[in-house]
Amino acid sequence: MLVTGSIEDIQSAVRLWKRQKLRVGFVPTMGALHEGHLELIRTARQISDRVVVSIFVNPSQFGPNEDFNDYPRNRDADLNLCRKQRVAALFTPDEATIYPTGNLFHISLTELADTMCGASRPGFFEGIVQVINKLFNIVEPDVALFGQKDFQQFIILKRMVQEFNHQTEMVMVPVQREHDGLAYSSRNSYLNREERAVAPALYKSLSIIAAAIHNGENSPEVVIESQRNDLEEKGFKIDYLGVFSRARLRPVTRVSAGDQYVIAGAVYLGKTRLIDNILLDL
Ligand code: AMP
Repeated sequence: MLVTGSIEDIQSAVRLWKRQKLRVGFVPTMGALHEGHLELIRTARQISDRVVVSIFVNPSQFGPNEDFNDYPRNRDADLNLCRKQRVAALFTPDEATIYPTGNLFHISLTELADTMCGASRPGFFEGIVQVINKLFNIVEPDVALFGQKDFQQFIILKRMVQEFNHQTEMVMVPVQREHDGLAYSSRNSYLNREERAVAPALYKSLSIIAAAIHNGENSPEVVIESQRNDLEEKGFKIDYLGVFSRARLRPVTRVSAGDQYVIAGAVYLGKTRLIDNILLDL
């Protein structure tokens, strides 16, 4: 496995593979790899010939009061996991490599970032678009894989690929969960024992809302409100919990047959922010 922080090194490896007509799959991450990341890598291996993983804890997507400094970093374990998964190249750039000009340019987003996570994390998706745009320009992957857990991120990045003319196919991999339903997340390591025990309630609430809609409820506001109350009683602080249109991420109060939605939530448990979602095809 090639392990490098250098743009030249990763580019010459990828360009060689492309000359050999090998299809290059790319999995961008912030490290502290878990089963969610590994599923992305496994899927990448199935649909491409060489898998490139990047690990970069991107400062530009963290707000001033967020956890950039505390974000789990686990380089040795990550390296071993990537080796085991037969990753061809691990790209681990430092900040000066990714942001050499000190952020002179900024991509701003309009409606897709003013809802869900974007509403409470100003600058978050701009930071993600900025870094993924750069990583796509560096790696020039044939296909890139992202997790459904960050559904809004996937929708925004898919639009970015269209609008900035990247020649990269976008693939979304379903949410990977622990046995009790909690979605894997690098931030789960912040949870203490009591918090970890109640954390699966977020997925349960999303599932209850999904079940009510599948059973014919087309105005889900009442069931959503009761799930909000239920989560608050369990000690969660709710950022948002609701049903959103799939393509434009607008909150909806009525659902109708033939349409696609995402039931999504973001909550705090102590200082830990958890997100999760369920896709709904009616
Ligand atoms: P991160 O390292 O948190 O930036 O995540 C890197 C990639 O892994 C993103 O595309 C995430 O959506 C994806 N990912 C994180 N957790 C999960 C999960 N539980 N299931 C599926 N994909 C995930």
